[in-house]
Order: sequence, then C-alpha cells, then structure tokens
Amino acid sequence: MLIPNQNYGNLKESYLFFHIAQKVEAYREKHPDLPLYRLGIGDVSRPLCDVAIQALHAAVDEQAKEKTFHGYTPECGIPEFREAVAGYYARRNVKLDPAEIFVSSGASDELGDILDLFDPVSPALITQPAYPAYVDASIMAGRKVLFLTARPENNFLPLPSDDIEADLVYLCSPSNPTGAVYDREGLQAWVDYANRRGAVILFDAAYEAFVEGNLPHSIFEVPGARTCAIEICSFSKTAGWTGTRLGYTVIPKELEREGMNLNAMWVRNRTTKTNGISYILQKAGAAVLKGEGLRQIHGNIRHYKENARVLMDALDECGIRYWGGKNAPYIWMACPDGMKSWDFFDLLLNEIQVVGTPGEGFGTSGEGFFRLSSFGNPVDTKIAAERIKKLLKQG
Ligand code: PLP
Repeated sequence: MLIPNQNYGNLKESYLFFHIAQKVEAYREKHPDLPLYRLGIGDVSRPLCDVAIQALHAAVDEQAKEKTFHGYTPECGIPEFREAVAGYYARRNVKLDPAEIFVSSGASDELGDILDLFDPVSPALITQPAYPAYVDASIMAGRKVLFLTARPENNFLPLPSDDIEADLVYLCSPSNPTGAVYDREGLQAWVDYANRRGAVILFDAAYEAFVEGNLPHSIFEVPGARTCAIEICSFSKTAGWTGTRLGYTVIPKELEREGMNLNAMWVRNRTTKTNGISYILQKAGAAVLKGEGLRQIHGNIRHYKENARVLMDALDECGIRYWGGKNAPYIWMACPDGMKSWDFFDLLLNEIQVVGTPGEGFGTSGEGFFRLSSFGNPVDTKIAAERIKKLLKQG
C-alpha cells in the first residue's frame, strides 16, 4: 500500500493566516455592518506600475503574432530577464553572471523547492520569530529544525556561535515579522560561520527593496558569501506582484559541497521539474528592474512607508515599544501591559475592528509581540492608527 509522507503528521494543525481568516470571518458574520481595518497579512494593495502594465501588454501582443510568438521559455529564465536581474545587483557592485540567476514563480515556491538540493539529515537553523513557511517546508521534507531566538536584547538579529550545529541556515533580512535588518558585520558573522562549518545560508531577500541607507540588500554584498549562500528573492514586495507571481534565486557558480556544484544541480532540477516561467511575466519583470520601472516601483514602496510612518507615530504617542517600520513594511510592537499576542489580536478585532497578526504565530518567541503591516490603503491605515491610539491611550 502507498505510504504518504509521514512528515506531514509533524506539522502544526493550522496555518497562521488561515486561523486569522477564520476568526475574522466569524467576527464578520456576527457584525456584518462593521467595517474592518486590515493590517494583517502582508499582501500589497497598490496596482501594478505603468511600466509593468505596458510591458505586459507588449508581451501579450508578441504572443498574438506568429512571427513574435514564444512557446516554452528556457527553464532557468530568458536571457533578458537574467541580465536585468544581474544589472539590478550591479547597481550595488554585486557582480553576478546571468547564469547564476534562476527565474522562479516567487519566493515561497523556491523556499520549499530548494530543499531538494540537500539531504534531509542536514539540520536547518531558523531564527525565530520567523516566516512560517521555513519551518513547515523543512518539516515536510523531514528535516530537523533548530531555533535561534531573536529578541529585543539582540535587536531581533541573533548571531552565530560555533556550538550551533546547523547545515542549512535560514536568514531573512529585512525580517518578516520583526522588520530587523542585518548590517554588514552581522551578515559577515553568518557568512564566516557557514564557510567554517560547510553550511549553506538560504538568504530570503523578499523585502530588500525596503532597505534604506548603507545597510546590505543582498548577502552577496558581503565577502565570502559566494561560497556559502543562496539568495531567494521575489517581485511580490519589490514590485507589488503578489498576485502576478515572479521571483528569482541566485546560486553562485563557486557554491559546492562534497564535490557537488549547487548551481549545476539547480539547473538539473529546474530543467527536470519545471518548464519555465511565463514569457510575458519575465519580459515585464525585466522592464521594472531598470530606469523608469525602478523609479515607479520605488514610488510604491515610498507610499507603503508613509503608512508605516502613520502607524509608528501612533505607537510613539502611546509610548509603545516597536521595531521595524523603517527598512521593512512591518512594525513589530510589544503588546501593551504584557498581554499575550492572541489576546491582543482579539482586543483589536473586537474593540476597534483592526486586524493585525499575533506574534505567537511566528513561533513561540513571538509571544508578547504583534505585527502591523503597512501594505494597506492609506485611508484605512490612518483610521486604524487613530483607533489604536484611542484604545491604547484609554488604557
Ligand atoms: N519570504 C518572506 C519573508 C515573506 O514574507 C513572503 C511573503 O509574504 C515570502 C517569502 C513569499 O513571497 P512570494 O509571494 O514571492 O511567494
């Protein structure tokens, strides 16, 4: 008889956002006339920028004519897309060969699929609180998971020590949910640890476009990363393409373990398990990574940052401690009066109809914290901020 993957039995029952959706739905059924202010799930609200729309239309038109029609695209990406991503990195003096860039349909897919490259006996280290998919994808693959706690004392940016026995290290910077960003020294410590141990870092750069100032956007800005890191990125937050679906993964040619080349292995994987990503999306993706396209996607990010500012101002007025918001779309606040995070979720939903995300959903070390997202529309965000202020000030 067929034996299903037994590892699924080790997953926690309910997925965070599913559980929130159930609670919100139950509230809505009871109070159908009350508006809800959603600062919960990290989905964007701005439409695609003009450059993207024009490039999408142009690519659709190409598909309409026999002369310009494209069938299957190369599995690892069309040259124009891979070169555009290489150009995007070159702006920060990170030199990548386009053959080190693999197109994907988004970061979530890749974070799970990439585990195919590693034997499940290699334990994974996850800094927690963390994006839930790291833990679940590792458990599904039967991998042992170790946790390193991110807390206020380490500014939510834990550093390695040689007694940690991990072969795969997930790092997310800027972090979802805490909004914390590693500086160069912090990333260097992880790169040195990984090179010493022969570990591989899976660097989730989904929020890199929110980084300001001289902080690193990519792990490849740090010396030594080419021999120990894979970077996974997405257009979801960079360009607001959560529903459009496009991403890329960087695997340097130098990255080898036990005599096996991970770039070559991923080529083998992609050419076996995928038939490429839509030509239309790759054309538009290439268009937004340069010139006017870049200017427009940064305009959208500035728009979300204004929402973050409104929320941070409200928390400042209430004397509530928070992290993130500056280099990330998320604000990670301490729940008032030591409340538990699901209790604070219920309080906000029931009293002021604001939906956020309880920190506990990102792992036990997220207990006592709460995530607010700046991806909503500005009007709702302002109303939500006013309501939060009123509620917390009346104590
Ligand atoms: N990584 C992190 C840290 C995220 O927060 C998200 C989505 O919210 C993803 C990856 C997934 O992105 P994508 O939409 O590309 O699958």
